[in-house]
Amino acid sequence: MSGASGMIIIGAGECGVRAAFALREEGYGGPVTLIGAEPHLPYERPPLSKGAAAGAQKIIAGESRYDEAGITLRRATRVERIEANRRQVALSDGTTHAYDKLLIATGAQARRFPGMEAARTLRSLDDAEAILAAFRPGARLAVVGGGFIGLELAATARERHVDVTVIEAADRLMARIVPAALAAMFEARHRAEGVALLLSATVASVGEEGVVLADGRHVEADLVVAGVGAAPDTQLAEQAGLAVGDGILVDHRLQTADASIFAAGDCCNFPYRGGRVRLESWRCAQDQGTHAARAMLGADEAFSRTPWFWSDQYDLGLQVAGLPDPARPFIRRDLAGGALILFQLGDDGALLSASGAGPGNAVAKQISIAEKMIQRAVPVSAGQLADTGTNLKSLLKG
Ligand SMILES: Cc1cc2nc3c(=O)[nH]c(=O)nc-3n(C[C@H](O)[C@H](O)[C@H](O)COP(=O)(O)OP(=O)(O)OC[C@H]3O[C@@H](n4cnc5c(N)ncnc54)[C@H](O)[C@@H]3O)c2cc1C
Repeated sequence: MSGASGMIIIGAGECGVRAAFALREEGYGGPVTLIGAEPHLPYERPPLSKGAAAGAQKIIAGESRYDEAGITLRRATRVERIEANRRQVALSDGTTHAYDKLLIATGAQARRFPGMEAARTLRSLDDAEAILAAFRPGARLAVVGGGFIGLELAATARERHVDVTVIEAADRLMARIVPAALAAMFEARHRAEGVALLLSATVASVGEEGVVLADGRHVEADLVVAGVGAAPDTQLAEQAGLAVGDGILVDHRLQTADASIFAAGDCCNFPYRGGRVRLESWRCAQDQGTHAARAMLGADEAFSRTPWFWSDQYDLGLQVAGLPDPARPFIRRDLAGGALILFQLGDDGALLSASGAGPGNAVAKQISIAEKMIQRAVPVSAGQLADTGTNLKSLLKG
């Protein structure tokens, strides 16, 4: 057993890395150990599925930065067990390490539904390298799932002249969070790029030849990738007796019911606007990493940052701030060049969500202002939001 305890972070992904550096930025001088199961230097996941750079490793920080910050990075090392009563973790190399405070930032794992066992999934650099290696002109790719990752991969494949079929069980794309009018823009674009989109189509099985659909149709493919969502990696927490729902349950500080253990990023389920959510979002993982570090050092602040995420497919950019509620009406704001933003108001008369899409960064500025409006609960009317003559910045300033 190692001697000095300190801060231990399980999971060297976006959240864990941010938390490790944030501990130092907040002035913590004790040992910080970041333990990651993957062999690589911690890297960014969003580029793995996107465009020309897909499959290439973009590291979060160079090795020397960990050394300079006094962060012990243990790669290719898995935490096998949390022994909460002894405040220690047991590692795959057989050692145990004591902690004062522990952060679980184990992220999520790609799902597969029954029948899809033979499909590949895309979560890690190794996954991306294996998938991208099969992208040769004329190769046939079947993507199961018309969500962000599947569609980004479809776009990347088309850019490399791969034949692509996307199979989606719902009657439209990105149904989980993206408003229908924006999803339709992406549907049209994928079709125009030559992607065969099979909507309302359910997979019966995946095999060597491709995909068999529930209605008996066959989709022949050299490679099948399932992009049907991710499940939070909660195994360690469950074994340690921590409460788990859809993710590890934490309070407003990102603390679990064990005062020494925190959870953050894709693996955690946290309070948001009177309910609870789990997000799979790059920026949320970062924000929560910083927040968890501060909380581990004793800060009592509620995590309240407005959710924000993006997707890039071909040259179309999508951004969403807040969490769209499918039951509420959308207020439409048409921008130049075919870009579109859809707003939603909450019961309090303040902005609840803003979702936008268009060429390149066409919606970035306005979504960024909208995000601040959501965060500050600025009162606003539907007419002001719809009127392109009304500057959002002026609404923000009130
Ligand atoms: C292909 C792809 C594209 C994406 N694109 C976008 C995008 O465009 N926009 C956006 O907002 N988000 C995007 N995301 C989501 C974003 O990358 C995640 O929200 C973010 O990576 C979550 O960070 P995390 O640190 O919580 O988890 P992860 O990044 O998953 O890191 C968790 C780490 O913990 C390790 N681990 C797990 N268990 C153990 C253990 N027992 N011991 C040691 N280590 C362990 C895992 O190996 C992993 O490295 C994308 C994700 C993928 C996969």
